[in-house]
Amino acid sequence: MDIRAIRERAFLNRAGLPAYSVLLLALILSAIAWYFAQRTVVAHERNHFNRAVTQTIIALNLRMEAYTTTLHGVAAIFAASENVTRREFRTFVETVDIERRHPSIHGVGLIRRVRAAERAGYLAAMRAEHGANPCGYPDVSVFPKEIRTEYYLIELVEPILVNRELFGRDVLTEPACLEAMERARDSGEPAVTAPVRVVRGDQERLALFMLMPLYVRGQALETVAGRRAAIEGFVFAQLLAEELFGGIFGKLENPRIDLEVFDGEIDTGRLLFDNDRVLHALHSAGNPHFTQTVDFEAGGRRWRLHFTSLKVFHDRWLATLPLAILLTGSALGVVLFRVNIAQSRHAHERQRHTTVLEYQATHDSLTRLVNRDYLYARLQVTFEQNDPRPRTSALLLIDLDRFKEINDTLGHQSGDRLLTDLGARLRPLLRPDDVLARLGGDEFGLLMQGIGDVHEARRTAERILDEIRRPFELDGISVQIDASIGIALYPEHGRDAVTLMRCADVAMYIAKRNNAGHALYDSTLDPHSPRRLTLLSEIARAVDGGELLLYYQPKVDMQHRRITGVEALARWDHPRSGLILPGEFIPQVETSPLVRNFTLWVIEAALTQCLRWHESAIPVQVAVNISARNLADSELPDRVAALIERHRASAGCLEMEITESALIADPERALAVLTRLHGLGVRLAIDDFGTGYSSLAFLKKLPISTLKIDSSFISGITEDDNDAVIVHSTIALAHNLGLTVVAEGVETTEQRDLLEIIGCDQAQGYLFCRPQPASKIDAFLRRGLPVH
Ligand code: C2E
Ligand code: CA
Ligand code: CA
Repeated sequence: MDIRAIRERAFLNRAGLPAYSVLLLALILSAIAWYFAQRTVVAHERNHFNRAVTQTIIALNLRMEAYTTTLHGVAAIFAASENVTRREFRTFVETVDIERRHPSIHGVGLIRRVRAAERAGYLAAMRAEHGANPCGYPDVSVFPKEIRTEYYLIELVEPILVNRELFGRDVLTEPACLEAMERARDSGEPAVTAPVRVVRGDQERLALFMLMPLYVRGQALETVAGRRAAIEGFVFAQLLAEELFGGIFGKLENPRIDLEVFDGEIDTGRLLFDNDRVLHALHSAGNPHFTQTVDFEAGGRRWRLHFTSLKVFHDRWLATLPLAILLTGSALGVVLFRVNIAQSRHAHERQRHTTVLEYQATHDSLTRLVNRDYLYARLQVTFEQNDPRPRTSALLLIDLDRFKEINDTLGHQSGDRLLTDLGARLRPLLRPDDVLARLGGDEFGLLMQGIGDVHEARRTAERILDEIRRPFELDGISVQIDASIGIALYPEHGRDAVTLMRCADVAMYIAKRNNAGHALYDSTLDPHSPRRLTLLSEIARAVDGGELLLYYQPKVDMQHRRITGVEALARWDHPRSGLILPGEFIPQVETSPLVRNFTLWVIEAALTQCLRWHESAIPVQVAVNISARNLADSELPDRVAALIERHRASAGCLEMEITESALIADPERALAVLTRLHGLGVRLAIDDFGTGYSSLAFLKKLPISTLKIDSSFISGITEDDNDAVIVHSTIALAHNLGLTVVAEGVETTEQRDLLEIIGCDQAQGYLFCRPQPASKIDAFLRRGLPVH
């Protein structure tokens, strides 16, 4: 099984559960709906069937009652008159309109009891009537030949035209009639015969005779014997079975139910009626089908009515409804299942996507450590608890030294490897609650929550440094790096994330500056300490409001021991704090837009002072310090040109000192500005030389005339051979490039002498003169020579 199939199966296992439940539920509900629909359909049809059965029985009952009533009417005319002629009988039948009112009655008539003794007289009378008025009757010819004690002869029957074969028949010869006659005679009630075959036209049909006894008037009829003695004959109605039942059924117009009528039992009795044998075949396969058997009492005989629903009885659409419900329900279930699966998959994908996004938002993709945002959020959560006696936590800011070099020399891939390896090395040093984050570049942050004391943070910092200093193997090259770690404590140094992070940052710079590995935050060393932050807000006023002033420090020509120039150094005469040194406010000025006006003010003040000295016949040059931000200001050269012109000064008396680091930030732009300043005739010097990494080759491209060697080299020059060698070779190379070399921070005569020996051109330092206000330095300059 491939990985996709495994993942799919795992997904279905988890997310598929609700979907499968929905499917199962839908199938169960469909099955239940199917079951109930089925039952409802069956109940509905059963009801329909039962109604049809009941209606048939009611109709049959009404019909039989109507026949009985009709026969009573027929009997009444014989009771009323001794001798009813054929004509009278026909008139009666026509008046009652039996044929139309009862279509299934195919004849009514009279059966006369004729005793053997009466036979001859009776025949004669009949013949006489026939002779006088036959009325459509045939002659009496079919009289039974054999001699019996009595005969029951059909004497009258109407309509005679269709019933001629009945006329004159002795019904005693018909067993079915005999049985019914005896019943009617004995009970005095109408009786119905078993079916009798009769010929109708050229067809044989099944007929039923309903017989009503006629007794001799005035006889006692209470007992069977009395009734037997008094019997005179019967009136009868001939019913065709097919038309009797068919008429009822036809009226009900219900061909969808089969009716079979038996005289007697279903199996043994005779079939009186079957409404359609062709349709009958249809119901055999019909399932479910309904059957019902009803016993019907008719004139002393028992009929058995057998109803069966035919296939067509069952509504095809209604029958398919339950199945349709089942199928639709199941299909719906499957659709829901698929929709559910699709939705779950969608939700799953979205969840995964969100998780990935969340991970990306809070993690560093390279080292897989959490990022700056996450660390800030954690700091905030930790500090938001507003605990009155919070536990001490430490924030360690780790900054790698020399990382940029590795990136530049070995390539980014190696740099990335180093960072990844470092993350892996540091992880085992962490306690479970510690949060190690990559803040960006070569900076890492470690939050240690709930530490015992500051020593614990220091010990961790040392262990981290040990790990960092252990060589890294990068593509077969062993590389060694170092780091500086700043430590800030919560709540001692800050109670919010931003402050604590800044304190750790300050501590890290202290560690870096002092080459100490790690350092704890110290507010007195913080350029952003509250006092400094207040100063920043006041600096704008200082620049515009005359609180700034310039001190000057002479530069001494080593060969002639003469002052050749002065360097202007800014001071802030603060109304409350007194004199503030540039180290405390210049960095703030440099990071604000004030820097342009500040520098222009310094240049103008220095230029004004320089012109004053020139007027007093003191031919000094004045040097001003230009910050890195000024070199990014393309308007500066024009502004300087305007100043020089306004004061009618010579550009040659102005020198500008630019630190090495200022040049490195954006060399192209710096070069453009410097070239234009040089074009004005302003002299340019590189300040603090040796602290940056600029090569002499780079300096060669610059339009500079002077190099100022940083005081850190000069201070060690007499003790440290290394420093002496560096200064010596720097002077030699600078001279090669035609540059003047100035040594900064000369404090001792030994330093001065050594510098003189190795050919340094000029020197500047406390040994000769501390920076002083112009007024105090005047006399010094007039003398033209330094004290030493
Ligand atoms: P920098 O340009 O290197 O100036 C020389 C610094 O060394 C001055 O410090 C000076 O007082 C000090 N110094 C001179 N001789 C000795 C010595 O023998 N021993 C010791 N230990 N120090 C000596 P300062 O005046 O505090 O100025 C510090 C820095 O502030 C300057 O360093 C310069 O970078 C900056 N700065 C001063 N004024 C200005 C200014 O007007 N504009 C700009 N952009 N920066 C200025
Ligand atoms: Ca300087
Ligand atoms: Ca300097």
